[in-house]
Amino acid sequence: MNMDWTPGQAAGNDEVVIAHGGGGEQTRRLIAEHVLPKLGNALLAPLMDSAVLTVAAGRIAFTTDSFVVQPLVFPGGDIGRLAVCGTVNDLAVMGAVPQALSLALVLEEGLPFRMLDQVVDSIAAAAREAGVVVATGDTKVIERHRGDGMIITTAGIGVMREGMELSPRRIEPGDRVIVTGRIADHGLAVMSAREGLAFETELLSDVAPLGGLVEAICRAGADLKFMRDPTRGGLAGVVADLADDTGLSIELDEAAIPLSRAARHTAELLGLDPLSIANEGKVVAVAPAADADRLIDACRSHPLGREAAVIGRFTEAQPALVELITRSGGRRVVQRPYGEELPRIC
Ligand code: MG
Repeated sequence: MNMDWTPGQAAGNDEVVIAHGGGGEQTRRLIAEHVLPKLGNALLAPLMDSAVLTVAAGRIAFTTDSFVVQPLVFPGGDIGRLAVCGTVNDLAVMGAVPQALSLALVLEEGLPFRMLDQVVDSIAAAAREAGVVVATGDTKVIERHRGDGMIITTAGIGVMREGMELSPRRIEPGDRVIVTGRIADHGLAVMSAREGLAFETELLSDVAPLGGLVEAICRAGADLKFMRDPTRGGLAGVVADLADDTGLSIELDEAAIPLSRAARHTAELLGLDPLSIANEGKVVAVAPAADADRLIDACRSHPLGREAAVIGRFTEAQPALVELITRSGGRRVVQRPYGEELPRIC
């Protein structure tokens, strides 16, 4: 692991110590010196037991996620950016406009402050990029060798857009499956860093906040029926769920699925199927065939959707399953990944 730091002097000034989690003076100082200067905003600053938010009347989306990625810093991102984007994206793909996050940090004794600072800076930058505030938070410290440096949990709320009706139940035969760009980069970038593979610098995680891209998708004027971010389980996980939930089959066109040469090569080397590798900056969307072009145009109008493509369609074939039409014209069934092929990539 990259984060195997050397234990420093007891109560050193340059690293987290147990007392920082005690809720006393040391905790207050940690927050004041390492968190508030970076994340401070009117909601967080009072440091009360809860943040009090004013939100528009109507429906609110509410979600949470824990982040245990190793290493903490990987090509294209780090655990902080991931913790913001993962939660913001779960709100966005439900059709909500992300508003505010909570941030719970579990720090391991001995974590260098420079690493904490780097991650909190990254959280601040990603939150700005995503247009959300960190409204409330918590910090705990656990003993050395029991925490792999840092674990982060974020929860988020977003305000639902009017008139959004996203449900697999609305999907019909003929509807198209769209992905907003290259798949598999995140999981492969993290795995490459962890395995110390020589080509690790070539692949970068796609981790990014998707609120802006989703906004463009929602404004496309398409009859949008479904969105999901293909994180753990990858594209394969999403389409397998869709076949189950709709009772319809899906035909995927391998040649149409955006995949970089570096990603294809790395997946081969690691013996992994790119379809089941996690993404942290992509959307899978479903819309009628007649709306596919306008949806693709809308995606491509946004920097995160330049390589959007129609990759498949729903059919009435029974039993309901997902078939990949390979580049060579063959067919293979795509299944949901069975277990944890790629542990701790998010
Ligand atoms: Mg999700």
